[in-house]
Amino acid sequence: MIVTNSNATQRAWVEIDHQALINNVVALKKILAPHTKLMTVIKADAYGHGAVSVAKTVLGCGADYLAIATLSEGIELRKAQIKAPIMILGAINSAEEIEEVVKWQLEPTICTLSQGQVFAEVLARLGVSLSVHLKIDTGMSRLGTLWHKTVTFVKGIQNIAHLEIKSLYSHLATADDPDSRVMNLQHQRFRDAIEELKAHQIDIQALHLANSAGTMVGQDLHYDMVRVGLALYGLYPSVHLQNRVQLQPVMEVKARITQIKNVPADTGVSYGHSFKCDRPSTIAVIGIGYADGVPRLLSNKMKVIIRGKYVQQIGNITMDQIMLDITDFPDLKVGEIVTVLGQDGDLTITADDWARAIGTISWEILCGFKHRLPRINNE
Ligand SMILES: *Cc1c(COP(=O)(O)O)cnc(C)c1O
Repeated sequence: MIVTNSNATQRAWVEIDHQALINNVVALKKILAPHTKLMTVIKADAYGHGAVSVAKTVLGCGADYLAIATLSEGIELRKAQIKAPIMILGAINSAEEIEEVVKWQLEPTICTLSQGQVFAEVLARLGVSLSVHLKIDTGMSRLGTLWHKTVTFVKGIQNIAHLEIKSLYSHLATADDPDSRVMNLQHQRFRDAIEELKAHQIDIQALHLANSAGTMVGQDLHYDMVRVGLALYGLYPSVHLQNRVQLQPVMEVKARITQIKNVPADTGVSYGHSFKCDRPSTIAVIGIGYADGVPRLLSNKMKVIIRGKYVQQIGNITMDQIMLDITDFPDLKVGEIVTVLGQDGDLTITADDWARAIGTISWEILCGFKHRLPRINNE
């Protein structure tokens, strides 16, 4: 166990299981079509897991490419001496940003011809060329040029000196939906765009379309590369895709009991007294709150695990602390370790459990843990 901060286990912390991460990479590579490369998506600090340490581990066990969302996320990786190709998923538009992209040898996404022209000016001034990825919109309605304008877009970019097109890609909006109609339509539009390029004798080095869900749906979505985020971290994009590959959650969140007290029946707990003890109760405080990544919407709706048993959380979650009802667990002590997210004995609490309870998605739960808690990397 490498403790990255000597006080790491004082109050609350995140544990990252690098062996689970390796197992997930290996398992995902096994289901890829032959020759399909694995791009690991480590934006948002690797979905809260720590971008630099995750990058090092996945590159050491077979990841081919890294993807991040913002310029600063890419710079962080380069400053950590990571040499692998890094694609930027988000849009880069200003001359200042483009200069940084060049300086740090990152590979941006070009979404429109006019964006390409901004690049052209900066690159001409600097006298350098740059590898870029072109994005088309087949139905996500986010970044990219609309699929039926692909040929004009690609030809326009090809005419710009200094831009080397490394790949063309699109993004699926509903690959996690058991109803595959929208996904099939997007796939058809992607195929149509590729056919049109062929008809114009335009050859693109690499094509990619699939996120985690698309990767699990099947090999006809894999093309030359898949862009896997969520699955890397051991979560499934949807229940119906759970039998496609065996994944293990990588993140656990732990905290310690910081105080224990006995209160009479009718005592209100936390801001707003949204919980009232219906019996003489023992309350434990643990040192983790919404500023750390525990969503406040989980107030009175979450459990933790202590000594292999579920314990109910009570009252509103506060910024730095939450309360537990430990009336039925009289042996617990201050300093005791609490599993907030993860496995203890036969019990588990997953990011999916939390997401379901508050009507969001596991992606958002994981990303919530990127700010304040120290990370312990278990090798
Ligand atoms: C975030 C992202 C991904 C990864 O998505 P997951 O569902 O987490 O696998 C892939 N492609 C693009 C363009 C993204 O923005």
